[in-house]
Amino acid sequence: MTSGADIIHHGGCQCGAVKFIARGAPICVANCHCRDCRKATSAAFTTFVDFPRSCVTFTLEPSIFHSSPTVERLFCSTCGTPIGYRGDGSLDEINLYLGAFNEPENFKPTEECHQESALWKNYK
Ligand SMILES: [Zn+2]
Ligand SMILES: [Zn+2]
Repeated sequence: MTSGADIIHHGGCQCGAVKFIARGAPICVANCHCRDCRKATSAAFTTFVDFPRSCVTFTLEPSIFHSSPTVERLFCSTCGTPIGYRGDGSLDEINLYLGAFNEPENFKPTEECHQESALWKNYK
């Protein structure tokens, strides 16, 4: 995994209307199997990259949908790309979806979340 305080990761949506930079190493990289993430991304599960909010800057701001009173889902209102979410008890953190990064290969999952909700337990 690429790390170091001087590293800058670039990301954004499919159409380019939302752009962000994230500085340094992430707190964690997690595959999340919960229903909320499944619905938010229309994918079987999602992989998010968790950064301190102070390390992430939106150079082009996303739109926000409140999926619950404490959770903000960030997305592009032009092309629909899900960007990530904030909230849910981690007020200092922002979770950016792996696929929103321009170089997602820089990150590797460090944990699995909500495996009890995983669609498939064992598959090959
Ligand atoms: Zn877009
Ligand atoms: Zn989740």
